[in-house]
Formats: sequence, C-alpha cells, structure tokens
Amino acid sequence: MPGTALDPEIAIAISGLRFGYGSGDDILALSELNVRASQRAFVYGPSGCGKSTLLALVGGVLVAREGVVAILGENLSVMKSAARDRIRADHVGFIFQQFNLVPYLSVVENASLPCRYSRRRLQRAVDAHGSVEKSAARLLSALGIGEELRSRRTTDLSVGQQQRVAAARALIGRPELVIADEPTSSLDADRRREFISLLLSEAGRADSTVIFVSHDASLATHFDVAIDLGLSNTAPEPSNAA
Ligand code: ADP
Ligand code: MG
Repeated sequence: MPGTALDPEIAIAISGLRFGYGSGDDILALSELNVRASQRAFVYGPSGCGKSTLLALVGGVLVAREGVVAILGENLSVMKSAARDRIRADHVGFIFQQFNLVPYLSVVENASLPCRYSRRRLQRAVDAHGSVEKSAARLLSALGIGEELRSRRTTDLSVGQQQRVAAARALIGRPELVIADEPTSSLDADRRREFISLLLSEAGRADSTVIFVSHDASLATHFDVAIDLGLSNTAPEPSNAA
C-alpha cells in the first residue's frame, strides 16, 4: 500500500478502503475520497449502495477491512476501539435518519447530551455561551425551536422539530465533523431546503466540516462538493440489494 500522509486540513481522507459485514463479501470499495476542513460534502446514491456504511466507517463505528479511513489526520483503521470512541465523542456530531433522540429527556437535555460524554465539547459550549444550557438554547433558537418547546419531551414534537433538535445535538460544542444520514427523507421539498440551509449555516458558524448523505441527488446544489457513491463504490453488486 502506498504511504498516505495524514493532514489535519483534510477532514476526511479515505484511500484503498474495503469493507464488508461479518464474513460476507465486500460491499464497499473506494479507491479515494477526500473532504477538506470546513467543506460541505454531499454523498448520494441509490438505497443499498453503502451510504450509511460509509458514514459508520467515517465515524469510527465500523472498521475497514483494508485501507485508510482518517478523520482530522487520525487513521481510525489502526486504532483500538476506545480511541475511536474518544475521537467520535470529542470531534463528531451525528444526525441519524431516525434522529435517535432520547424520549424521556427534554428538548434542551437532548441537545446537550454530547457534552455529557465529552469534556472537550462541554468546555467549548461553556466557553461560547457561559453554560451548556445556554449553548443548547442558542442553537435551538437558531434552528427554529423556540423557548416554549425547550422543556418539552421530544416525543411531543413534530418530525420536523425533532430533526432540528437532532441537528442542535450534533452541533453543540462545535465538533470538527458533522455527519448526517438522510435526515430530510421524511420532509417535503420546502422544509427539506429550509432544514439543509439552517444546518449548513450553523455548521458554518461552528466551522464544522459536513458530510451529508442522501439518495436524492437533487440536494447536491446546497453543497460544496458532491460524490456519487453508486459510481465510486467498486465493490461487486450484492445479489440481495436493499
Ligand atoms: P444505504 O445507506 O446506501 O442504503 P447501507 O450502507 O445501509 O446502504 O447498506 C449497504 C449494503 O450493506 C446493503 O446491501 C445492506 O443490505 C448491507 N448491510 C447494511 N447493514 C448491514 C448489517 N448490519 N449487516 C449486514 N449487511 C448489512
Ligand atoms: Mg442508509
């Protein structure tokens, strides 16, 4: 394998990646994918082409079989799982397709959650606005969640509102990298556009790099770069594609 120089200016650096689940065949093979710091990257492709798998590799939840998956200059592929967990908690904000909010916590508690698991993000939230709660409140307002909703349970909110809470949670404590997995698939076109523009503008304020995936290629116009994963992924088609 060629020597790959790691560069913290490259938020995501993937080369020679191969991944498959368990003992199954490779489902993801990518010769190269780079995202520069502060860039907003869009990854698209049909259902089953490996978008969620790619994000799990970038977030250090899954580990490559072969090749380099580096974020912020650190090669996750050679790290122990505790080290990957640390990097993820301190430097990565996730927005999942199903949001994964905690139902028994309030809106503001959900948005504050990453600061419980990362001293670094806690410190950055406190430094920015005096307290984690104030930081969460500012982000929530910026994302269109008013004061009257802050102490409500997230289960009382509409899908669109829950998604904004999930975005606030991803952005709190200004993580260097924000990973979003089809967070707009349940929205109509206008709300989708509005959500993406709010998310990108807040990510810009936090100076976070964004990697956003969707099956809907028409969203590419919102982003700095667009990557067709269906095309880039050279693993053989699975016979039972989802
Ligand atoms: P996308 O997000 O683009 O729809 P995924 O990354 O979820 O695609 O899935 C890529 C391929 O990996 C699909 O063929 C899917 O069936 C398979 N896959 C996804 N998750 C698992 C898993 N936990 N175990 C085994 N196969 C999986
Ligand atoms: Mg997916």
